[in-house]
Amino acid sequence: MKKRLHVVTWGCQMNVYDSARMADVLSPLGYGPADGPEDADMVILNTCHIRERASEKLFSELGRLRLVKQARAEQGNATILAVAGCVAQAEGKEILARAPYVDIVLGPQTYHRLPEMVAQAARAAGAVIDTDFPAESKFDFLPDLAAPQTEGGLTAFLTIQEGCDKFCSFCVVPYTRGAEASRPAASVLAEARRMVQAGAREITLLGQNVNAWHGEGPNGTPQTLGWLLRALAEIPGLLRLRYTTSHPRDMDDDLIAAHAEVKQVMPFLHLPVQSGSDRILAAMNRKHTADDYLRLIEKLRAARPDLALSSDFIVGHPGETEAEFEATLGLIRAVGFSQAFSFKYSPRPGTPAAGAPGQIPEAEKDRRLYALQDLLRAQQADFNRRCVGLTLPVLITGPGRHDGQVAGRSPYLQPVHFIGPKNLIGQEIPVTIEAAHTNSLSGATLKEKACA
Ligand code: SAM
Ligand code: SF4
Repeated sequence: MKKRLHVVTWGCQMNVYDSARMADVLSPLGYGPADGPEDADMVILNTCHIRERASEKLFSELGRLRLVKQARAEQGNATILAVAGCVAQAEGKEILARAPYVDIVLGPQTYHRLPEMVAQAARAAGAVIDTDFPAESKFDFLPDLAAPQTEGGLTAFLTIQEGCDKFCSFCVVPYTRGAEASRPAASVLAEARRMVQAGAREITLLGQNVNAWHGEGPNGTPQTLGWLLRALAEIPGLLRLRYTTSHPRDMDDDLIAAHAEVKQVMPFLHLPVQSGSDRILAAMNRKHTADDYLRLIEKLRAARPDLALSSDFIVGHPGETEAEFEATLGLIRAVGFSQAFSFKYSPRPGTPAAGAPGQIPEAEKDRRLYALQDLLRAQQADFNRRCVGLTLPVLITGPGRHDGQVAGRSPYLQPVHFIGPKNLIGQEIPVTIEAAHTNSLSGATLKEKACA
């Protein structure tokens, strides 16, 4: 009998990918997509713990789903309610204590055991909890993805690495996602080939620490991300490669060289630095200085002069002085980013920084965040403006927002839209950029310009 599954995803691209894979492992049990929770035999909340109020958000959503589950039960329909992801990993027992109507709690390492847990829950054997970090990798157990997941299947995400051993002072990932584990090259390459066969033209390799990838290569020895990018570039039909998120300490020379040598590797890199102050970087346990980062950027730009850079910043880490915050603004000015993410420091229970002295008042964190975002916004606008007049290859991924438009991405990850026929979707074509908007560009193809 056909059963229906509704998955709610919070957080990063890794979670989007995990949700697709959970849906995949459940499809042999007869689960297909539901229109919403009211219509679903199973609801999975795939949670993210990175920033604040994740658990409040979870319990408020669970309260709503409890009513849905009750209403369905009154009509004779059972609903399996599962909580997955990082909040499940961190607060498994607390979830079952506060929300006993939840049937399954599972951490990110145990998705391959989901069918077994569903069978147990269906037998009403009581709530099932599985948040261990098993010795074997979940990569060994998940079935193959049938199709890539985004932008009409033209761009796909592929997880190649999980977990982290770096233990930054502020971060829950090493506790929730477990130790760093890399997927073997053969399995990555096989999945990438299937994605391309199913229509993907761009693949983004994912990992909490993606450039620490050291999966087993063809001769049984660990390889590097630079090697993997070169191997992926051999796949016919794969036009573009990206990877995220990287750590500055794992940017080795071979990976930098791949940016110069492999044409499929896009000239865009998200490389989080977090702070521009050496004292704060040490307190964060980042194990690199501001100068190390700047020298790395110099090397990357020497290899690929048009490289656009993105980063993550945290303002208000415990103990951050005004001068240390200013050092972060100084680093931003020195690099010049095409876009970036910035966050107010948020204490995550169980991490070293949460109990550190010198917590910064919220209002001060707000002030620093606004100042930093003003600067980043100005740099993004400047970067976009400098693209006007250039002709950029754009991978067309779908219709634009307005009639007659199509839209896609530049090599630098900017959304680009222009007037053009829908049959361009799926192609990479040159587009002359005519205007820069806050978060996107608009342009015209040579044909359109000739007709104008
Ligand atoms: N592995 C990546 C790295 O080394 O930078 C980042 C992973 S983390 C999932 C994504 C971003 O969330 C971090 O780069 C950091 O800027 C932000 N973040 C993580 N924990 C945070 C916290 N407690 N408060 C504020 N921002 C945080
Ligand atoms: Fe978290 Fe990234 Fe630091 Fe690992 S390297 S602890 S994922 S911020």
